Amino acid sequence: MADAVANAVADAAAKLKLTEPAGESGPKLQLDEVTGEMVSKGELKKRQAKRAKKANQAAKPAQPASAAPKAAPKPKEEASLDPQAMFKQGFLNDVYNERPVNPVVTRFPPEPNGFLHIGHAKAITINFGFAKFHGGKTFLRFDDTNPEAEKEEYFTAIVDMVHWLGFSPCALTYSSDSFDRLYELAEKLITLDSAYVCHCNDEQIKAQRGGEKGASPRFRCEHAEQSVEHNLREFRAMRDGKYKPREAFLRMKQDITDGNPQMWDLAAYRVLNQPHHRTGDKWKIYPTYDFTHCLVDSFEGITHSLCTTEFYLSRQSYEWLNQKLVDYQPMQREYGRLSISGSVLSKRKLKELVDKKIVRGWDDPRLYTLIGVKRRGVPPGAILEFVNELGVTTTNSIIQITRFEQSIRRYLERTVPRLMLVLEPVRVVIEDAEEADETDVTIPFSAKNPEMGDHKIKFTPKEIYIDRSDFREVDSKDYFRLAPGKTVGLLNAPFPIKATSFTKDEATGKVTEIRAVFDKETKKPKAFIQWVGSDGRKVEVRIHQPLFLSENPAAAEGGYLNDLNPNSEIIYSDALIESGIDEIRRRAPWPEAAGEDKLGKGGPESVRFQATRVAYFALDSDSTDDKIVLNRIVSLKEDKEKS
Ligand SMILES: [Zn+2]
Repeated sequence: MADAVANAVADAAAKLKLTEPAGESGPKLQLDEVTGEMVSKGELKKRQAKRAKKANQAAKPAQPASAAPKAAPKPKEEASLDPQAMFKQGFLNDVYNERPVNPVVTRFPPEPNGFLHIGHAKAITINFGFAKFHGGKTFLRFDDTNPEAEKEEYFTAIVDMVHWLGFSPCALTYSSDSFDRLYELAEKLITLDSAYVCHCNDEQIKAQRGGEKGASPRFRCEHAEQSVEHNLREFRAMRDGKYKPREAFLRMKQDITDGNPQMWDLAAYRVLNQPHHRTGDKWKIYPTYDFTHCLVDSFEGITHSLCTTEFYLSRQSYEWLNQKLVDYQPMQREYGRLSISGSVLSKRKLKELVDKKIVRGWDDPRLYTLIGVKRRGVPPGAILEFVNELGVTTTNSIIQITRFEQSIRRYLERTVPRLMLVLEPVRVVIEDAEEADETDVTIPFSAKNPEMGDHKIKFTPKEIYIDRSDFREVDSKDYFRLAPGKTVGLLNAPFPIKATSFTKDEATGKVTEIRAVFDKETKKPKAFIQWVGSDGRKVEVRIHQPLFLSENPAAAEGGYLNDLNPNSEIIYSDALIESGIDEIRRRAPWPEAAGEDKLGKGGPESVRFQATRVAYFALDSDSTDDKIVLNRIVSLKEDKEKS
């Protein structure tokens, strides 16, 4: 009896003592990015020194003395950038100083004819952010002057995305709200002898504009000579349905001699026999972008009309028309577009990918539509940070996917909790485990941020699961995970384990079970691996890689569909995740920032976490109460290989 008590005390003491290093170093373990192992700080330093030495030696014979040894590129400066830097300096600061008014009024004017993509995230951030920074307001204006392409689902999706990014428009407006006023101004323009109804066809107009390559002299057609009365009559005839599409259009009488093609008598109105989703059958003619945009900017009192540089040449006609017709003059300025290389953003191509079922829909996590980026789990705050980091200039930027992902990774690193997940589980039975070894272990959700709290999971040594990639049938000296006769640490568990034997499925050659024992002697194992107990949840994990193989799919021989990456989605249908996922789901959104909090709980994609040693993940919208589906948001480090 006394012996039993003494033994129990000694056991407990031994456990306590042995638990300490693992328990203590648990949160302090660091990822060795080369091997993917969790190791102690000291071990990591040792490994890095060894690698540096090796790299130096390798570099020396090839490099003459003058060349500095090639060090690994330094990780980008971690010092966090002022989140409002893009408004305080550079282009946007200059734009403000050009017209330092109060209040600032901007607009975000999407055409509701498709889903927004990553480039629009920049436009939203600039327009809403600029006004917000200066204490002003922003209209969300649907530029709905082309009824042919507009669909209700696009309107809703656009509003959702603006809110998701954390912005609130002061009002939702429609260019079509101004159709009456625009029509009156078109008549006024005719009265000023600054517009005429033209019946020329495309070929004639091309000739008037200098023909092929603009080689021949430019000239005006005879319609430009018509009287004001004639033009008014003809324009009203257009309005009243006398003409079919393309038979007549209203042209602005600008300056055909100007060097700027945007001044060569642009179209102001065209005949379109299409009902409009808001004005119904009222109109048979619709104003063009060039006629509408500048005037509605003036109606809404826009102070700074910010658009991409493709509209740079349009600025002249924008100002010309406003000066002719309205008192209030908004100011248009242009910034460089954002796109992501190795992706396609054109509506036609995206539609083809969706129609041919190459992707799961417009919100496929491999697409750079905003709904796709959202479904993938990229937090809105990470997008804002990315745009801010890039800054705003007049140059178009084509950003590599890897840079975008690096930015997301940095954001997630600070803001989401950690869980243990195994992609390809293999059962491990710890043979010498006793009933008493089954115990609760407490794991912090974050190594750095105690505010995220902690949670308990069951350590079930009679049956735990580790990842297939963490076991080798044959050990080697430079390998530090599990192998017969080798010891490895189990993250957060009381003792390391040593494999003793394993069984294999003869048919597949795959290991089906590993037998192991506790290794209570080894106090500091070289490496730690994650595991899931017998109470883990089965999950489907989707690992996404870029959809295309090259940086420029459009240039691929035979078109972008020939550039598809066959491994762009790899599915692990039998993955296991620890029970901590329940609390993470309950407590979402992660992080509680930028937009998602305004939408209540946020969607499934706001359930974000880092799976230790694996990647960052978010819940996919295919998840149900009974089935968890996860998308990889980004890997833990840059993927240099694969596909
Ligand atoms: Zn003409």
